[in-house]
Amino acid sequence: MKEQPKVMYDSAEAAQQVTVTGWRSRNGHFCGDNEHLARWDGCTHLLCDCGAEMDRGYTLCRSCRDKQRLERYEAMPFQEWDRTTPLTLHDDDEYFWDEDSVWDYCELNGIKPEGLRLVICEPNYAWEIEADDYYGDDLPEDQPLNDVYPDLAEAIEKVNEMIRKKERPLSWGGGKYRTTLQITSSSNAA
Ligand SMILES: [Zn+2]
Repeated sequence: MKEQPKVMYDSAEAAQQVTVTGWRSRNGHFCGDNEHLARWDGCTHLLCDCGAEMDRGYTLCRSCRDKQRLERYEAMPFQEWDRTTPLTLHDDDEYFWDEDSVWDYCELNGIKPEGLRLVICEPNYAWEIEADDYYGDDLPEDQPLNDVYPDLAEAIEKVNEMIRKKERPLSWGGGKYRTTLQITSSSNAA
């Protein structure tokens, strides 16, 4: 290795004042040569690909987002509703527990049922309790709960048996099928 020359703190060699060119955002953030970052930081609106203005923080304008949501909904496979399973609205937290509440919602919001993006719910069941994982931090190394506390392990297994029966969901969430209210009797067609 080459020997380093001695440079004193006060000497001209130690440092020089330079002028730095770069991009500073409206908010005063210096972004070096990253013009995009500075512009993004300093702006409030951008143009969507469609040409419309949109708030910063979105990648699509409102109308493109609506269009995209509709496309996603329409891309879902259709299933006829059994009139029992709860329904929800696509991309929304509105839930319907029966047909009447769908009609009520339509009336309240002045929309027709065919204008709703209905989705059939799927049940969320309780998870089985993996006792060795659940107590993993406190169990002795390499010893399952069954070795340490067999009665408790057995009791948990009974709970799991109940859980496996899936008799009652904990909650419902939007599933993968879109649906409609069968208003006409033409639902047998294809
Ligand atoms: Zn757009």
